[in-house]
Amino acid sequence: MEQGKQHVLVAGAGGFIGGHLVKRLKSEGYWVRGVDIKQHEYSQSPADEFLVGDLCDPEFARRSVEGIEDVYQLAADMGGAGYIFTGDHDAAVMRNSATINLNMLEFGRLAGVRRFFYSSSACIYPEYNQMDPDNPKCSEESAYPAAPDSEYGWEKLFSERLYLSFMRNYGVQVRIARFHNIFGIEGSWTGGKEKAPAAMCRKVAEAPPGGEIEIWGDGKQTRSFLYVDECLEGVRRLMESDFTGPVNIGSEEMVTINQLAEMVMSIANKELSIRHIPGPLGVRGRNSDNKLMREKLGWEPSRPLRQGLETTYKWIAAQVAKHSPVESLV
Ligand code: NAD
Repeated sequence: MEQGKQHVLVAGAGGFIGGHLVKRLKSEGYWVRGVDIKQHEYSQSPADEFLVGDLCDPEFARRSVEGIEDVYQLAADMGGAGYIFTGDHDAAVMRNSATINLNMLEFGRLAGVRRFFYSSSACIYPEYNQMDPDNPKCSEESAYPAAPDSEYGWEKLFSERLYLSFMRNYGVQVRIARFHNIFGIEGSWTGGKEKAPAAMCRKVAEAPPGGEIEIWGDGKQTRSFLYVDECLEGVRRLMESDFTGPVNIGSEEMVTINQLAEMVMSIANKELSIRHIPGPLGVRGRNSDNKLMREKLGWEPSRPLRQGLETTYKWIAAQVAKHSPVESLV
């Protein structure tokens, strides 16, 4: 560890947002320890120290927080709709993620950690406010009476309360963000844990000219998507503010899944037909509400969805090309 530098921990540093966060914190001059159950798949981590281990293991969690001032807790058992809405992973998702949060808080406070950032999710919002695709309600105070539509969402809500309890009873500082569909380069794009923008980019990149892509449901369900760089800007601003949250970190540019598909096709310059098939869907409509963010952080994301998608499509198309059978024969 280095004298004179602030020591921070990124839990989930081998993952998508955590991987980008390590880079951002390094560029700001922090001494960074990354921890994850796996190494980052798509880039070499610039972390000063990278520990590979299971944060459900109390001994590993205890080692992870030693000498740390700020913890960014992003480790979670998660994935896109194909992972969290089928019901097949409910027990693992709840057990693993809750255990990680319990361990980070308990060993963190014992080690003298000053501040915890916790990445919650838009999935905590009640299903009853997200039935109308044109008019979803996701303002922070609408979280209760609670009725998330997945066990993933329930665990996030429990853990928000866990962080707030530790703040109340043990005096640690806490910052909680509710992320809304973060996307970008160097994240899951295949294998079942990828989310809608990455899956869409992959399907379009794989499709032959004039071909077809499949979309789960009628494609009229709405969402908003935030590029990872702007997500991290929000995280850093929240961490440095005196606001605890929970606060939404998301985009207010709402699109239907069909519109998302059209946008990716136009970026790829490919005209494909869309086939709607049954699949796990999640809520009918969802959009970030950034009123509280504007008020408390004096900032909000501004980059158009299309811009982030252009960068992401380019990266995923390159991954697809790299992994195509033709390429591997060369
Ligand atoms: P990710 O799956 O890429 O990253 C999570 C990381 O946690 C993975 O690298 C995984 O290996 C690690 N992990 C899981 N179990 C672990 C364990 N037992 N010990 C150590 N490491 C473990 O996901 P992400 O998209 O980078 O998300 C980061 C955080 O943000 C998560 O908490 C997620 O729930 C939250 N979030 C993400 C989004 C989004 O759109 N990406 C939206 C809402 C909330």
